[in-house]
Amino acid sequence: MNEKIINSVLKETLINLKTQGILATPNEYHKEFCKVSKSYKLTINECEQFKKLVSKLSKNEQLEIKKKEISTFEDMIPILLNRVSKENVNTLAELFQKSITPSISIDIDENLQKFSVKIGNSPALLFEEDIQKEMQEFITKRFEADKKIVKQKTSEIAKLLTLMSQHFNDAIHSSGQGSQEVSDIKSKIQSIDINESGMKTLSDLQTQLIDAAKSIEQEMSTVGEKLSSGKSEVETLEEKVKKLEEELDKTREESIKDHLTGLLTRRAYEESIKKIENEFMRNNTQYAIVFFDLDHFKNINDTYGHDAGDVIISTFAKILDKNTRDLDIVGRYGGEEFVAIIHFNLKRELLKYLKRIKSIVQDNDFVYKKQKIKVTFSAGVAIRNNHNNYEGTIQKADMLLYNAKEGGRDKIVMEDGTAI
Ligand code: GH3
Ligand code: MG
Ligand code: MG
Repeated sequence: MNEKIINSVLKETLINLKTQGILATPNEYHKEFCKVSKSYKLTINECEQFKKLVSKLSKNEQLEIKKKEISTFEDMIPILLNRVSKENVNTLAELFQKSITPSISIDIDENLQKFSVKIGNSPALLFEEDIQKEMQEFITKRFEADKKIVKQKTSEIAKLLTLMSQHFNDAIHSSGQGSQEVSDIKSKIQSIDINESGMKTLSDLQTQLIDAAKSIEQEMSTVGEKLSSGKSEVETLEEKVKKLEEELDKTREESIKDHLTGLLTRRAYEESIKKIENEFMRNNTQYAIVFFDLDHFKNINDTYGHDAGDVIISTFAKILDKNTRDLDIVGRYGGEEFVAIIHFNLKRELLKYLKRIKSIVQDNDFVYKKQKIKVTFSAGVAIRNNHNNYEGTIQKADMLLYNAKEGGRDKIVMEDGTAI
């Protein structure tokens, strides 16, 4: 460095101080010296050191230095003294560690723990920019974690509310009497709005739910008492209904089935023939009406007694019943008179049926109290297709039965005049 120039700077510095009336203390001298050397475009180490140090300070400190026009180390000291002491930093680090730990979520973030330990060991790290960025991230994470848990809890509570309402509905239906109290509790539960702004904390909601649950419990026990006292009454009524149903079944059966033979009664027969006639009208399902009448039955009664007569009537009914298909029907038309509706395609099918009945009665004896009794029957057979309507057909069958009796009994007379 040029010694001449330095000397000029020295001189000018002293002159400047003197003209400004400033005492040449080391501090004032240093300031003026740096100023003058700058105007001489000189780079003086001591002057640069100050600048370098300022650049390392915080932005706020730099601003303050600029504002107060501080240019010496001495003047900088009060600003540096404002810096946080080590003990304060320790407390700050502790507070920070607490603030970044989720308060609701119990999940422990491993990274957060490590970071927390790091800060605990060297609290001064808090002032580093990278660390501060990391801190910001942890704080955001903490909020996210807590928010997630609150959301989850809220949806669980919403589900619980739905379940409770459902449960209530079931209880109301099963008790058969939705009392006012129960309905009130129900609407109370339904009106709890978990999104409501007034619902500040989860514990508010919890309190409301607990209250509702208590009311439910109370109401259910009252309903339970009412139910058990009404039980015996219900049971008596149930028994009555059951008895009535049984009686009704019996009556129904009696009106359908003849008590002696178990065949259709005349009334039930009239009902069944309506269906068969409808079927004939729709599909032309051909059928024959057969009128059976036991011969000289008055004599049988007179000879063997009325009970023997009953046994013969029911035995003859069994023979008809066993030999008639399900789609055909047999009824007891009167005392010892029976009617059968026989469906057939070919006439020989009809003849086969008639012959079978005839041969069974012919080849066997009726037995009453070990007495063998011979019985014959007469029958008239009319075919629906040969007549305009059902009435005409049944009249014909009746007439043919009369013909069979007239013709000497023990015979089945067909429409074409033939007899079996
Ligand atoms: P026919 O050959 O002309 O038919 O002579 P029948 O004696 O059988 O005819 P009638 O109609 O004169 O008499 C029918 C008899 O059948 C009279 C009646 O006492 C008897 N009878 C009717 N229903 C029953 C019954 O349920 N049980 C008994 N044991 N007899 C009955
Ligand atoms: Mg008779
Ligand atoms: Mg008769």
